[in-house]
Amino acid sequence: MSDCIFCKIAAGEIPSNKVYEDDRIIAIHDLNPMAPVHVLFIPKTHICCANAITEENSDIIAHIFTKIPVVAKELGLENGYRVVNNCGEDGGQTVMHIHFHLLGGKKLSLGMA
Ligand code: 5GP
Ligand code: ZN
Repeated sequence: MSDCIFCKIAAGEIPSNKVYEDDRIIAIHDLNPMAPVHVLFIPKTHICCANAITEENSDIIAHIFTKIPVVAKELGLENGYRVVNNCGEDGGQTVMHIHFHLLGGKKLSLGMA
């Protein structure tokens, strides 16, 4: 997706503050953090949203969920954290490339952060 900001970040075309990267995913600090720790886990392949997860592409989603606890531990979130996915307009998704928000570093309220 040539006009997708997260595809460009994943390809290194737009700089980002990376906390984790491998051949399939990146994790970056959110530009506008809503908690002391706010990291986005992003697959390098373009999947628009949770509605587009299939049997064929769900491996990368599972992979993200194996790395979330690793990064959470590295960032000191021993006391817990929240993982959020916004899907579509009503879900509040603003970047149409699937990503998972890792939020923590304080006792979170019932909203997103
Ligand atoms: P959404 O609302 O789609 O669930 O979340 C999109 C998130 O991406 C927002 O929290 C927003 O702050 C973040 N974001 C948007 N553009 C950029 C960017 O260029 N770099 C980084 N690091 N975060 C971004
Ligand atoms: Zn994309």
